[in-house]
Amino acid sequence: MESISVFDIFKIGVGPSSSHTLGPWKAARMFVSSLKASSFDRINVHLYGSLSKTGKGHATDKAVILGLLDYNAETIPSKDIPSIISGVENSNQLDTARGTIFFDPSLHIHFEDSFHNRHPNTLIFRASLEGRLVCEEIYASVGGGFVESDRATNESKHISLPFPIEKGQDIIEFTEQKKCAISDIVQLNEQAFDAAENIEDKIDALLETMLECVYQGCMTDGVLPGGLNVRRRAKGLCYELTGKANYSNRDEWIDAIKASPRTFNQINKWISCFALAVNEENASLSRVVTSPTNGAAGVIPAVLLYYFFFCDYAGKDAVRRFLFTAGEIGCLFKKGATISAAVGGCQAEIGVSSAMAAAGLTEVLGGTAKQALMASEIAMEHHLGLTCDPVAGLVQVPCIERNAMGAIKAITASNLALSGNPDTAIVKLDTVIKTMWDTAQDMNGKYKETSEGGLAFNLPVLMANC
Ligand code: SF4
Repeated sequence: MESISVFDIFKIGVGPSSSHTLGPWKAARMFVSSLKASSFDRINVHLYGSLSKTGKGHATDKAVILGLLDYNAETIPSKDIPSIISGVENSNQLDTARGTIFFDPSLHIHFEDSFHNRHPNTLIFRASLEGRLVCEEIYASVGGGFVESDRATNESKHISLPFPIEKGQDIIEFTEQKKCAISDIVQLNEQAFDAAENIEDKIDALLETMLECVYQGCMTDGVLPGGLNVRRRAKGLCYELTGKANYSNRDEWIDAIKASPRTFNQINKWISCFALAVNEENASLSRVVTSPTNGAAGVIPAVLLYYFFFCDYAGKDAVRRFLFTAGEIGCLFKKGATISAAVGGCQAEIGVSSAMAAAGLTEVLGGTAKQALMASEIAMEHHLGLTCDPVAGLVQVPCIERNAMGAIKAITASNLALSGNPDTAIVKLDTVIKTMWDTAQDMNGKYKETSEGGLAFNLPVLMANC
């Protein structure tokens, strides 16, 4: 049984995509690490399948360059990224641990016109010296920033856990045996991966990154990069809701939200504002928390902040309980189905994030483990079959608004579960996970992050402008 930490589901990184940006970035770092003992004067990178079809819009080429330069996506100042990329593009030089080599991204990053049989998101890296191949590695970016190769698989995969969880039913059995909440068993599992004090630090870092991301999104207007001329909307919504456009610091902004009116419509708009803010930042290659992907990174912060601002917030420990519960649901979908849009369409991104958020919210609002799983099931049930059709290959249309919709559905699902009886529910979470996987396998490839179907197909004029 595969062991996955919730901190593999929630990762701090930069936008716009976990499978097309963070995964390739990580693969490039793994490749340069494997080259440490080799001499080479050229590196060629081959991108296959969905990575090739939407890689330009998803900044896969830029991510590969940053990875080959061995930058860490978690710590790189995102404002430095444009100058680092243009430095390589203008000089055609790449600094590596073995010296500076000639590297022209337009010559040495190959967008291949085919799919590789290993995975829809496959990369091949080749290093050579004077025309002779010295090293070749094949990687698959399998969604959510997870990368697999013949030599390395997912993080922490073989750690033995006190509560090994494969299915939703395992969660029910463990929580009934121990008479505890989902987050309690996840906490004990996480202690098999890392020390308790580190876990607390990681939760703090996730919360800080989510909050800062929403704040920055609410402070920034203008047009998103990429050529579609999508205007940012979070700042305008924030202004509409508070009557104030600029804040001198984040605390002032938080106080303004707390003081703003709380009608149904206004709270509903705040939820959209939080989600749009994150995904506008994500589309700008800024720092976000992958949860479980970057395209869907706005759903969980939007629902978490809905809880923080508009429910009976029970303090920082509630954030841990929310994220642990949500993260474990993400693990279930990764094990039983997929969190990769190139494999399962947008149901695997927005659908999974909505299911995660619904469970997290239900736990902190006092729901039982069964109710949390019921909320998760309801949220996914109404995302089944959702296709991935990003216009111009950019993570903007329909992606940004889709996060607002995923957040609203999560809250509705949680409310239904909190008022419902899970023992009489017709559909169980494990059934909906299997159904999502079946649907993924039946889905036409046009709708799996290729921009060959749906809105992307019907808006060719817009694509031509990019
Ligand atoms: S349509 Fe959905 S799955 Fe596809 S890139 Fe956008 S958010 Fe991700």
